Amino acid sequence: MKVPPTLSTVLSNLFKKPATNPFPNTEPVPTPEGFRGKLVYDVDKCVGCRLCVMVCPAGVIEYVPEVRKVTFWLGRCVFCQQCADVCPVNAIKMSDEFLLATYDKYDDNLRWFKEDEIAELKRKLEEQKKAKEAAKKEGSK
Ligand code: SF4
Ligand code: SF4
Repeated sequence: MKVPPTLSTVLSNLFKKPATNPFPNTEPVPTPEGFRGKLVYDVDKCVGCRLCVMVCPAGVIEYVPEVRKVTFWLGRCVFCQQCADVCPVNAIKMSDEFLLATYDKYDDNLRWFKEDEIAELKRKLEEQKKAKEAAKKEGSK
């Protein structure tokens, strides 16, 4: 009797190893080069030009005028990389991090440049301003 082609494929596959990746018992499948994962913001490099705010199609980025920096809430990010491409000083990069599930949409892991960091930078800028003014006064004496 002739074995039907489908049956012979099924039978031969029965003796092969499963072609699955049993994550989370193993490492996830490696990401390729140029993968667009969670973005990373380097606040020190940022010059506050606002180009990223203008190109973001999802309203993820907000400008903070007092400190001339931007904040990100990645809960809305669509990982298009336009912000990273437009940034003139490479302050934004896409990392290969993609395990971002959370119970809280305002999770700290989904935000860059948080309120306490903004307050700290504001305080530093105030101090610098005062120091400059004091130095000016000293100079004019
Ligand atoms: S990757 Fe795209 S959606 Fe995400 S913050 Fe950048 S521009 Fe906005
Ligand atoms: S484009 Fe770059 S330098 Fe300009 S505001 Fe955005 S992160 Fe800062």
